[in-house]
Amino acid sequence: MSVSSGSGREMNCFGVTNGNERVPIIVYDSAQECLEAYLGCPLEQAGSMEGYNSKGIRYSYSPEEALERIKKKRCWGFCSDKEALHLWKDESCDVGTFIELIAHERGHMCRPHHRSQDLEEIKANQYGEIARFAYEVGLHVQECYAAKAES
Ligand SMILES: [Zn+2]
Repeated sequence: MSVSSGSGREMNCFGVTNGNERVPIIVYDSAQECLEAYLGCPLEQAGSMEGYNSKGIRYSYSPEEALERIKKKRCWGFCSDKEALHLWKDESCDVGTFIELIAHERGHMCRPHHRSQDLEEIKANQYGEIARFAYEVGLHVQECYAAKAES
């Protein structure tokens, strides 16, 4: 499997689900490169995008607006054809938030794949929330052991 679209640097990591599964990870230098890889074309050539606001109402926005939103989030990514993870992270983005994003996108690769976009997002969000929870618990427990070892 070769996935080296866009200008992202390809790094590989081995499967999370089972020991043989290899998930290609493509890391981008900038939010724009990552978004352009998602769109499949330069920003200027992309049409408007569609999303839902907090009230569930569909609305469209320009690729430039999308880029601004992505930059504000400080990390963003997507999975292509449910087989590769594409990621971008700002230097100021904390590890917990980045882990949540990775788990969210990895969650999209897991079955069942819902036809409803809403259900698919809810499923991916659950993966993200669990990953962040595990990260925070892991950190706290590690600190507890370290404190005990010191005393
Ligand atoms: Zn998602």
